[in-house]
Amino acid sequence: MASLNLKNVYKIFDEKVTAVNDFNLEIKDKEFIVLVGPSGCGKSTTLRMIAGLEEISQGEVYIGDEQVNETAPKDRDIAMVFQNYALYPHMTVFQNMAFGLKLKKMPKNEIDKRVQEAAKILEIEELLDRKPKALSGGQRQRVALGRAIVRDPKVFLMDEPLSNLDAKLRVVMRTEIAKLHQKLQTTFIYVTHDQTEAMTMGDRIVVMKDGVINQVDTPLNLYNNPINLFVAGFIGSPQMNFLQGKIEVKNNSTFFVFGENYIQLPEDKSSIVNEKGYLSGSEMIMGIRPEDIFNDSATIEKFIKSSIEGKVEVTEIMGADASLFVDIDGQNLVARVESSSQLKPNTMTKLALNPAKIHLFDKQTEESIL
Ligand code: ATP
Repeated sequence: MASLNLKNVYKIFDEKVTAVNDFNLEIKDKEFIVLVGPSGCGKSTTLRMIAGLEEISQGEVYIGDEQVNETAPKDRDIAMVFQNYALYPHMTVFQNMAFGLKLKKMPKNEIDKRVQEAAKILEIEELLDRKPKALSGGQRQRVALGRAIVRDPKVFLMDEPLSNLDAKLRVVMRTEIAKLHQKLQTTFIYVTHDQTEAMTMGDRIVVMKDGVINQVDTPLNLYNNPINLFVAGFIGSPQMNFLQGKIEVKNNSTFFVFGENYIQLPEDKSSIVNEKGYLSGSEMIMGIRPEDIFNDSATIEKFIKSSIEGKVEVTEIMGADASLFVDIDGQNLVARVESSSQLKPNTMTKLALNPAKIHLFDKQTEESIL
């Protein structure tokens, strides 16, 4: 078990590609940290620097109290699980799991004990004599995890471990890994580009873009209080809606205006906009999540000051819910409504936005201002 600390860490490839740019993060002992972001944002490189597989260009990495910049990967007491499992095809499951321990010259009875224990945790005891080719994708992934568990490392590093599995199995294994974390009570650092995986697994999520940490927070805080337009759009599925418009201050009230639509901001949000010095005409992007938009008459009445009208383009029914794709003055919006309230294409509909859930982003800086 161990905490980790990354201080001003950089990775610069070939003196020109800054893959990781001033990465700072303290990871608590037993924490489940997820690094998430689009392809090429530097997640894997960060993980590989922690593992010692990639040299650190600048900065320091600590595991526990020990600075490990120059420590060889095998001496860092970490285990890494890769996307492609990297199992030896000619070895049985048992041999695959035992391999690292044999290299360490661990006594045979201790190896047996550890492999049996890990196999039990992962429920693969009956597979120990099989070769990898006789296993399903999910079973192979369990073996790869087993090989990491037997080493009893201080830290588990996982780089997109589920990306080779089909969608259904990914969901199952996601839960399995979360359970494993609870059982092992060890620090996990997990890399994925899938925001759903990040949201469902992490104690805290690190959202990266272009080598830079944009925000670090719990899943719910990230969802409710994204710091900028990128995080707001990246976290959440379906995505947050964005509308381009302007601020208008009139009779002591503040409105977000786009086309013919006036959305009155609640008092607390209005004060923030005014305190930050935004005047009438300031260009803004408003964000609202699909579940914060309503089309039933009671809610429209309740939120009448933040209601708008648009033309239904498509309704997608997903069971209890439906997604309503609406065009409002040339801008698109998706609302998640009850499927019983589905509407025909080309009909006009009123929609109410929950004013408490409105986000505003400065158009120039893309920072959240609320
Ligand atoms: P993905 O989700 O696609 O794996 P990632 O977020 O893990 O992406 P990295 O693999 O860390 O991203 O790559 C970050 C940046 O560093 C990318 O621009 C990549 O092209 C670059 N990069 C990675 N490895 C090297 C290398 N060995 N030499 C030069 N550039 C590299």
